[in-house]
Amino acid sequence: MVYADESGEIYDLPDLGMAGRSGRLFHPVELKDLIPLPEGSELFVLPGTMPVGWDQDVDEMVVVDQDPGGGGKAVQAVAAFISPAYTQTASTAFYREEMPERPLPLFAYTAVGWWNGRFYVAGFRSDPDTRQDFRQFDLDLIRRNTLKRLKRDRDNRLIQHLGRCSLTYGCPAAKNLFLNRYEAPLPTSPVCNARCLGCLSLQPEDGPPATQDRITFVPTPREVAGVAVPHLKRAKRAVVSFGQGCEGEPLMQDEVLENSVRLIRSRVSRGTVNLNSNASRPDAVIKLVDAGLDSMRISMNSIREKYYTAYYRPKGYSYSDVLESWRIMKEAGRYVSLNLFVLPGLTDEMAEIDRLSEVIEQTGLDLIQLRNHNIDPDWYLDSIGYEYSGMRAGVQGMVKILKKRFPRLKFGYFNPPLGQDTNRRRGR
Ligand code: SF4
Repeated sequence: MVYADESGEIYDLPDLGMAGRSGRLFHPVELKDLIPLPEGSELFVLPGTMPVGWDQDVDEMVVVDQDPGGGGKAVQAVAAFISPAYTQTASTAFYREEMPERPLPLFAYTAVGWWNGRFYVAGFRSDPDTRQDFRQFDLDLIRRNTLKRLKRDRDNRLIQHLGRCSLTYGCPAAKNLFLNRYEAPLPTSPVCNARCLGCLSLQPEDGPPATQDRITFVPTPREVAGVAVPHLKRAKRAVVSFGQGCEGEPLMQDEVLENSVRLIRSRVSRGTVNLNSNASRPDAVIKLVDAGLDSMRISMNSIREKYYTAYYRPKGYSYSDVLESWRIMKEAGRYVSLNLFVLPGLTDEMAEIDRLSEVIEQTGLDLIQLRNHNIDPDWYLDSIGYEYSGMRAGVQGMVKILKKRFPRLKFGYFNPPLGQDTNRRRGR
């Protein structure tokens, strides 16, 4: 087990084994479920929490409420925020006497331990694609390219916005845009028709701190095409995606999106035009399919309606609209991914897996992106009224079950470039 003292220094405690958490249940984490801490990951010290370890001799969970180093000082739990392309299988085992006024910031808190001179985390690499691997980013080159582009496209507000995302927020998608490769972002919407508990770009006073500012303007189709067309023409494994962490819901700008996709496709047929979305507006999706949209990634915290509605708190749409948009894309032969927010204990419950299987059976699905849910687990489970519903398969167990039920279903972390497949799907 690892813990931090009150000043934030991290130590291992050999007397206790590493523990993890699934839902609200603490459990030991075995070596076979661990991987070395991926490069580029971060370690967080969690204020107001106490670490929980596993006493192997008596097979009991132990809350460490004082600094084992003596002096009766406070201790804190430690969590890992693991790098993109890795999916967590257990959350950090921490105990709180009471919920603080504000929940922890919007990050995924993955179980971490120490063994043989290094940190290990409960997770697995869910996507071999290296597009956002830490060592892929030459920061000097990114800075030079970004500044050059900002100067050249000073009249394109979207380029100016993405320049800030690249240089200030360090957004991997924005960095890849200025490196002319892989997936580039096309944020368009300052507004949204949902009020997700864990919205990264807009939070109430008493909510967790939002991790990035929302775009404040709606770009024109010309500005959107000014970003997308050069990227699709020359980028390696080119994808451009509406729907980013720094915006609301892109379907709220359906006319801009439709006209942008038509303009883009009138100038370049290469690459993939993708939409990351809450899929709330089937009417808008019909227009986008007609305009030439290639793929859609639908974000969901849970496929179970009660947890979905409690989390998204939709305004003017419902869970069935989301499934309707999904059906429209599949019936049009387009590519659909489910962006499933993984929280160990909830995501891998058999009730979740069976409901997901029902929907896939009815509608079809190409890919599940296994994204870690960036949220305070206590606050989240309390807020959605979570109730333990029985058997859990483990996150990797869930993948195994779904692969068996749907052999053609893919698993990953990123929006794939559809390449030649794109033209075939557009019936060209
Ligand atoms: S759908 Fe996206 S932008 Fe809208 S509230 Fe949820 S996380 Fe925020």
